Amino acid sequence: MKPWENNIRKTIPYVPGEQPDRQHMIKLNTNENPYPPAPGVAESLYSFDADQLRLYPDPEAKSLIQALAKRYRVKPEQVFAGVGSDDVLAMAFLTFFNSGKPILFPDITYSFYEVWADVFRIPYEKVPLDEHFRIRSQDYHRQNGGIIFPNPNAPTGELESLADIEEILKYNQDVIVIVDEAYIDFGGKSALALTDRYENLLVVQTFSKSRSLAGLRIGYAIGSEALIRYLNDVKYSFNSYTLSQPVILAGSAALADEVYFKKTIHKIVTTRERMKGEFRKLGFVSGDSQSNFLFVTHPEIPAKELFEALKEQNIYVRYFQKPRIDNYLRITIGTDEEMDTLLDFLREYVKRTSRV
Ligand code: PMP
Repeated sequence: MKPWENNIRKTIPYVPGEQPDRQHMIKLNTNENPYPPAPGVAESLYSFDADQLRLYPDPEAKSLIQALAKRYRVKPEQVFAGVGSDDVLAMAFLTFFNSGKPILFPDITYSFYEVWADVFRIPYEKVPLDEHFRIRSQDYHRQNGGIIFPNPNAPTGELESLADIEEILKYNQDVIVIVDEAYIDFGGKSALALTDRYENLLVVQTFSKSRSLAGLRIGYAIGSEALIRYLNDVKYSFNSYTLSQPVILAGSAALADEVYFKKTIHKIVTTRERMKGEFRKLGFVSGDSQSNFLFVTHPEIPAKELFEALKEQNIYVRYFQKPRIDNYLRITIGTDEEMDTLLDFLREYVKRTSRV
């Protein structure tokens, strides 16, 4: 190592899912929405006046913040927005996890949490999920520097009840508890209902999944006014202009179309429930995902082998070479047509394998 390398902040980065640029591929590896965003999004972008780009965007993204506040029936002072929920979560780690005590998150969860903890030098402990990949709330009844978990969890898709989340909150009123609700719109009850009673609770959501806008990059957090103020102080110490003008505009347009939002979610949930049955028929085992993906394992077919075989068919799913889950695949719910192509292949594959 060269002397100048000694004082560099070294870290092991998060590895995002592949974004291959192939024709006719079926992309079920990064939990994107298979349906386009609300029509108003395209309209807002077409009508955008490029001359405006001379100017900086509104650093407070007021119109978007107000639209979010209205949609979720909170005050604008309770809403924070960022460049995808990854940005919001990174800011939240930096702002809220500074006690020097280890923060807690599940052993099987969104792998970005340990990356942020490492890069910000935040100590952490992973709390094992039970054998059904469920969070045991009593495991969080101990000293810690803060808590974060997704609900539904990723990559398992398992949803915890609000009662269980409140169990965690009751015992942890002296630290910040973050519930990452990237997938909540696909079936869960949001912990937003608890923000009135717990001013240390931050709920983070995203436009990337249920609003089909992964490419636009909008995430947001809702919590008490005090939490949002602290979050904004750190944001403004980092980068004031996080959301660009077109993003603010298109994001507000997406929020305006509640009918389209509900319709899209309904389609995905219907396909998901059908797929649960189809996977079961093929001998796969999975939990009761309430997200836009399934987390499946097969008693006879190694997940890694299946992952490779699917890739050869131009079907991309996600495989994690990690303890406890290295025989599972996370499969995003696509269109019915995409899922049928996947099923056709799996039926053949399972038939071939069980004959051997
Ligand atoms: N949280 C969880 C649990 C996720 O799976 C993802 C998607 N990778 C994110 C947050 C971040 O999503 P985005 O930055 O697109 O909002």
